[in-house]
Amino acid sequence: MLTTEQWIERAKNLRPKADLFIDGKFVSAVSGKRFDTLAPRDGSVITTVARGDGADVDAAARSAAKAFESGVWSKTDPRHRQAILTKFSDLILANREELALLESIETGHPIGDAMNVDVPSAARSFRWYAEALDKIYDEVAPAPRTALTLITREPLGVIGAVVPWNYPLIISAWKLAPALAAGNSVVLKPAENTNLASLRLAELAFEAGLPAGVLNVVTGLGAEAGQALGRHPLVDKITFTGSPAVGRMFQTYAGETNGKQVALELGGKSPHIVFEDVADIDACAEAVAWGIFYNAGQTCHGGSRLLVHESVHDRLIEATIKVAKQLKMGDTLDPSTQISAIVSERQLERVLGYLDIAKNEKVDFALGGNRVTPAEGLEKGYFVEPTILTNVDNAGRIGQEEIFGPVLAVTKFKNTAEAIELANASEYGLAASVWTQDLTRAHKVVREVRAGTVWVNTFDVADIIVPFGGFKNSGFGRDRSLHALDSYTALKTTWINLGSDEPK
Ligand code: NAP
Ligand code: MG
Repeated sequence: MLTTEQWIERAKNLRPKADLFIDGKFVSAVSGKRFDTLAPRDGSVITTVARGDGADVDAAARSAAKAFESGVWSKTDPRHRQAILTKFSDLILANREELALLESIETGHPIGDAMNVDVPSAARSFRWYAEALDKIYDEVAPAPRTALTLITREPLGVIGAVVPWNYPLIISAWKLAPALAAGNSVVLKPAENTNLASLRLAELAFEAGLPAGVLNVVTGLGAEAGQALGRHPLVDKITFTGSPAVGRMFQTYAGETNGKQVALELGGKSPHIVFEDVADIDACAEAVAWGIFYNAGQTCHGGSRLLVHESVHDRLIEATIKVAKQLKMGDTLDPSTQISAIVSERQLERVLGYLDIAKNEKVDFALGGNRVTPAEGLEKGYFVEPTILTNVDNAGRIGQEEIFGPVLAVTKFKNTAEAIELANASEYGLAASVWTQDLTRAHKVVREVRAGTVWVNTFDVADIIVPFGGFKNSGFGRDRSLHALDSYTALKTTWINLGSDEPK
């Protein structure tokens, strides 16, 4: 691993490509407009990015549709797609330092996480779907002997992928890998704050042999480029991760245009439910602290609520504070940093706004609660201390709303029924965890909790092998696993008349 000084030196010398990637080339926006992208660690301008709008989305969607119809990718032998996606995965790993730096400098993810989590996870997604794609068989239905009925999967066409800023590489890979593996063409619209790693990713895909037009990236603003993609008639499906409000806009865009499919993965307010018989308070505290403070709390399934039995409340809070105090907050580019900046000034203000709300709700600040400067020279960076709020009313704004920062809301319960009620008393249902030694209770609680993922005696362990998505206002789309691959295909029925059952 490079040293902090070496990373800072590399960051200074970065000359990232920040135009639109359309039809296999970097191009300026038709309007010629650009916008600044900033480094959360110190608020400095990294570079300017092309501000694509409807005209650019149209060019990208046409390029994607043309590539799809030509069959250069969509009609190729699965083994050809496998070879190219495998090479792409290898190229991601071969360019790990560059991708990690682009991701880290723009998102504020600690460089160590970008190197060890973001880049390898993205590479693994492409490799996993590449490996899978020649191992999936279609179906023959049990028709009478006078017919042969085939159920086959075909790619959908053009996929519009709209992603947030919290994990640009990982979330893009969760969408692009299955969409491309299935033979679709894609137009990716990254979040306006985080474009650079995605643009490099598209360039590497092209270098790996992905034909021009099969993967396009249109950077720009949500209301311009995002909306244009959502409304484009050549787009067959939108796969979206972000806020519930914008997710619903995509449903409206689809309804008002071509009725394209829309898959939504939205936010969460995921609870840990800790019972009095939790086996190991320290292990639980470790999971609770990392579950909310990792990536400064900017994780859609982050464990932002802690529901804890009153008899273990004090011990668990004490242990969680101990872990939180040991987490090293620091410069994004310091490899020893464990927690770093919030993505943007806007999100910083939003988190600080919630801390003011917390003061009005009269919750107790057991830890943190302030903006900080973790190192010299980072005074303008967007840093918030790990914060633990106790005696939170689950029905109040702190208990209900997605803060998307390093803020844990703690509420006590007295019995299992109350724990389940509190867990489900949320508009969200993305994830939850249950901590108990009682296997029967664990299974019963898992069944009752309305969430797309429920962990038992752990938190935030995940992999491409299992689906990820929500219930309720957390959306209904599922990224990861073979189910995601399936969601980028359409079923075709072929009914072949074999005439009479007499052998010829
Ligand atoms: P967002 O506004 O929902 O943005 C998600 C994506 O949609 C971005 O690419 C965004 O582009 C685009 N978009 C925004 N407005 C649009 C519009 N009117 N039409 C079409 N596309 C549009 O989410 P955000 O601003 O990144 O974060 C807001 C909140 O969403 C967070 O505080 C958090 O609560 C939640 N969130 C959830 C997740 C998750 O993984 N579930 C991730 C991030 C955020 P621009 O970036 O250009 O606006
Ligand atoms: Mg936004």
